Amino acid sequence: MADYWNPELETMPWPEVERWQAERVAAMLPALRQRSRLYARLHAGVPDGLAVRGASDLAALPFTLKDDLRVAQLAASEAEPLGENQAAPRVDVVQAISSSGTTGRPLYYGLTARDVEVFADAVANVWFTAGIRKGDVVAHLVGLPMVAGGLPYADGFRRIGATLCWLGGFPTERIVREMRHLRVTAVLATTSFALHLAERWDEAGRETGIGSCLRKVLGGGEPGLAQPELRRRIVAGLGLTHLRETMGLGDVIPSMWGECEQEDGMHFNAQRYVMLELIDPDSGQALPWREGGTGEIVYTTFARDATPVVRYRSRDHAEVVAMRCACGRTSPRIRCIGRTDDMLIYKGMNVFPTAIRDLVVDRFAGRVEPLLRLWKSSREQVRFDDAIAVEVEASAALDEPQRAALAREIEALVRAQLQVRIAVTVLDRGGLPRGVYKNAIVAVREP
Ligand SMILES: [Zn+2]
Repeated sequence: MADYWNPELETMPWPEVERWQAERVAAMLPALRQRSRLYARLHAGVPDGLAVRGASDLAALPFTLKDDLRVAQLAASEAEPLGENQAAPRVDVVQAISSSGTTGRPLYYGLTARDVEVFADAVANVWFTAGIRKGDVVAHLVGLPMVAGGLPYADGFRRIGATLCWLGGFPTERIVREMRHLRVTAVLATTSFALHLAERWDEAGRETGIGSCLRKVLGGGEPGLAQPELRRRIVAGLGLTHLRETMGLGDVIPSMWGECEQEDGMHFNAQRYVMLELIDPDSGQALPWREGGTGEIVYTTFARDATPVVRYRSRDHAEVVAMRCACGRTSPRIRCIGRTDDMLIYKGMNVFPTAIRDLVVDRFAGRVEPLLRLWKSSREQVRFDDAIAVEVEASAALDEPQRAALAREIEALVRAQLQVRIAVTVLDRGGLPRGVYKNAIVAVREP
């Protein structure tokens, strides 16, 4: 029997949830133009009293792009340190949050006291869906309190009543050891750090003489946990069965999606605060939520004071796994298939680096580690006409001819399956980084 963080909204038929949200969006919009110079500008042509009765009515409003937020921030002043998108007086903003800044200058967001509550409740809802309970001892590994995955994630764990062990910021070896000493039962980790942990966990047990209490792994910060080989490796290495993927967006709410006990796609868990759309990324047309559908996710916050967003293009591409679930939750279940920011164009054809990784990891399971890194020559490079440089790790020690043969095999598979030419370098096991926060699958060769 499943239990829920918010039984009413999590089990309400999805069309009713959308109507419930639409009422709140409609009530929020007129005031937003008064509060935010960004939306006074973006919504200048929107009629007063626009009727919003469902998600489809949002199509009358323009999208908000990341670039809109960047431009809005350039207008920062002493009264508006967050720029034109600051929709609450500075005196009411109790916290500033920074984007990770992995793709350019960081963006800053604000939280009022009410926003802090909204974040904590929404994030707690995701952790609860992903199986965290009061009584859990949770290792939180993000080392930067100011990023969206820092304090707001920590608040979510404490909101549930779990024991927060904020180990982020310590050296990796200490994190692993302390997790044994503190009898940690759950950990929130990037996919690649979870893999590192799986490789080191037994050794840490021998060093400390303390048995494993770890039962639950939550993945977040980078996609990849949907990859079966990776799941198998982490589950086997840590001797547990509970592995759940989560996802959010710092610009909106840092955790909004989480897997339930079905472990097959992430439910939307921020329905109390955020309205969702699925769109065709090329045409901008809204798409229906239906099983098997794919599109870009668009978010509208209707309970965000300091830095709200309306029809915000997430650049996350998702596949809808299902619209029903044995757990009783009614929100869509999705899998993230890639980010527009990572998308590359090989000879005029779009390709997600994650598609290359998932193919290689799946077909070469046991021969290469479930990690992959792709190189580009500058941050701006999107187009490739020559083979794309890719690094993988061999699972076993190989001599030079064996490495070369494996590289050729991988190149041939990717060419045959994805029509993309890659140039593979095979590294020793452990040759790729396993960070605790946002590991990019795409790296840039600095000149
Ligand atoms: Zn479910």
